[in-house]
Amino acid sequence: MKLRLYKEPNNNPEPEGFLKLKKTPAPKFYWHIHHDILVELATEPIESRIAFIKAHKPKNEQALRLRLLKPVKGALPQAVVKAGAELDKSDAEYRKSDAGCRKAYAAYCKSYAEWGKALIANMPAIEALHAKECPNCPWDGKTIFPKQTGKDGR
Ligand SMILES: [Zn+2]
Repeated sequence: MKLRLYKEPNNNPEPEGFLKLKKTPAPKFYWHIHHDILVELATEPIESRIAFIKAHKPKNEQALRLRLLKPVKGALPQAVVKAGAELDKSDAEYRKSDAGCRKAYAAYCKSYAEWGKALIANMPAIEALHAKECPNCPWDGKTIFPKQTGKDGR
């Protein structure tokens, strides 16, 4: 299974907008923040994402998006929790530093790559937890809209 992360780590500074996002107070995992990603660490208060969905997503997608977007309640694999905490920490450091600070950003990219590795290595356990917590879910390993193709609904 091909795993898609929210963004691909690279060595370019993030756009300035990222640094202006309000930071979440503590690392928190959610199912289906984006239609084509199973589990993510929220990078901003989830209320902001909900407001964005209501304001900008197609009306016929909103109910499903809002129904499936929810916090992970059970225990994710320890390696995933640890990688998530590291990612959250370097994200906070990066935001505290001057915009575009290369060193902090490089550390953030490294943590992000580790987060991806932890997810991939623990996907069976994550998918088992997802199956338990998210009944009647159309997620097919790639998207919550499996029948729609050729459309970027993010
Ligand atoms: Zn689901």
